[in-house]
Amino acid sequence: MSNSAIEVVQGDITKLRVDAIVNAANTSLLGGGGVDGAIHRAAGPQLLEECKTLNGCPTGQAKITQGYELPARHVIHTVGPVWHGGGQGEDELLAGCYRNSLRLAQEHGLESIAFPSISTGAYRFPLERACGIAVAEVKRFLDAQETVKKVFFVCFSAGDAEVYRKILAEEQ
Ligand code: ADP
Repeated sequence: MSNSAIEVVQGDITKLRVDAIVNAANTSLLGGGGVDGAIHRAAGPQLLEECKTLNGCPTGQAKITQGYELPARHVIHTVGPVWHGGGQGEDELLAGCYRNSLRLAQEHGLESIAFPSISTGAYRFPLERACGIAVAEVKRFLDAQETVKKVFFVCFSAGDAEVYRKILAEEQ
């Protein structure tokens, strides 16, 4: 895996022209606040119409739709765990979000994918712990296949981007 296969970007994930952006959705897949609301607003009403056909999504799993008015071709909707202190399988569920989103991208022949910081907003997962899980899962996946070539971690805040850059550098 080349080092440039993973990049940290500070900004709005809805602006990225990639094969897929990942949505930190809730189990209904019918929209919400945070990054979910931003993605639905930018994609337009057709995204919600397609989401209504999916019958929701369990925590840790992922489902794919078109991107509609987004610059991204697809949206991969995944449901992160709500943080309850770490004793309720939160780590493994969050790892599943990354793994299952990447698997879907691979199955659809997608080369580039952008993740937000899943579960670290309204769902309160501690940022450094979530970031460590995200980086470990993405690295393991990139080492094991050749379809997905580029992964962006998109952080809304400069502080979050700093944490991602630090943890990525530590793991090189
Ligand atoms: P969750 O419910 O999984 O915690 P949130 O949407 O509340 O999801 O927060 C996840 C992360 O997404 C937070 O770091 C939040 O700041 C960030 N975020 C919110 N809007 C955007 C956006 N437009 N682009 C990228 N990241 C965003």
